[in-house]
Amino acid sequence: MILIDGKKTSGDIKDEIAIEVAKMKGEGKRPPHLAAILVGDDGASQTYVNAKVKACEKVGFESTLVRFSADTSEEELLAKIEELNNDDGLDGFIVQLPLPKHIDEQKVTLAVNPEKDVDGFHPTNLGKMLLGQDTFLPATPYGIMEMLERYEIETSGKNTVIIGRSHIVGSPMSVLMARKGYPGDSTVTLTHSRTKNLSEITKTADIVIVANGIPEFLTGDMVKDGVVVIDVGITRVEDSSKKSGFRLLGDVKFDEVSKKASHITPVPGGVGPMTIAMLMKNTLLSRKNSDSK
Ligand code: NAD
Repeated sequence: MILIDGKKTSGDIKDEIAIEVAKMKGEGKRPPHLAAILVGDDGASQTYVNAKVKACEKVGFESTLVRFSADTSEEELLAKIEELNNDDGLDGFIVQLPLPKHIDEQKVTLAVNPEKDVDGFHPTNLGKMLLGQDTFLPATPYGIMEMLERYEIETSGKNTVIIGRSHIVGSPMSVLMARKGYPGDSTVTLTHSRTKNLSEITKTADIVIVANGIPEFLTGDMVKDGVVVIDVGITRVEDSSKKSGFRLLGDVKFDEVSKKASHITPVPGGVGPMTIAMLMKNTLLSRKNSDSK
């Protein structure tokens, strides 16, 4: 069994980005600049945003953290987005989800200038992805594609089963794995909460990508020998033995599934760090795009 080490791979990608940024700076060019908007004080969201800011520092990007309280109005948030859309010194920004209930996430996603949408959530960018055009790919599926490529995992003609159909992970993942080229050319089955006989489907899979947010959902009896397993899930479960008071669980019962898998991602240290590295990669791309305008 080969452990797909997202921590190491994301480190490699960040090192590659840092070299490009150093070269840019050496040529007297402005380094890429990423901003993150955080609304409220959700613990997990704060952790994710802090990790993104730290990654910016590591690769030599400029970063800006914009914080709003949980009772910020939708208008205030949209006004800030408009300001960032028009800031020529900024290459990309993200609005950390989830947002408080009184703010319409869809409205917010639509308000982001697609040229600065380094999360790849805007319909324009999702549409370009569907058409196979160059665009910002959503960071988590993009990170999974990168891991498959760097570990030279064969995807052509393979049966890929995806569990979960969210707009940010499962659905774009199904498009990317089915697209022409490598990684891709897979025969994809997109499964979800209404899927019947899921085990029968996963047992036929050469590659399983699990993103339904149910801890340890995929068990050993649901997969065949030699399967490649990508675990997207991150759930905080209480654990008084940890300093933080919680531990992270993936959507895969690792001890069982790893015995049958040819390749598997761990949680933590798998898909999570890759997502951040690909956000950096999208921001670098945006910075380069602004040079070629
Ligand atoms: P979501 O929570 O929005 O949706 C869950 C999906 O799972 C839905 O499409 C639903 O139909 C499906 N589902 C629910 N129950 C099911 C069942 N019994 N069988 C099959 N499918 C079922 O999904 P999300 O936002 O993609 O998040 C999924 C998980 O991935 C969460 O744990 C989240 O924290 C994690 N996540 C991790 C990263 C990362 O960077 N590693 C990024 C995004 C999400």
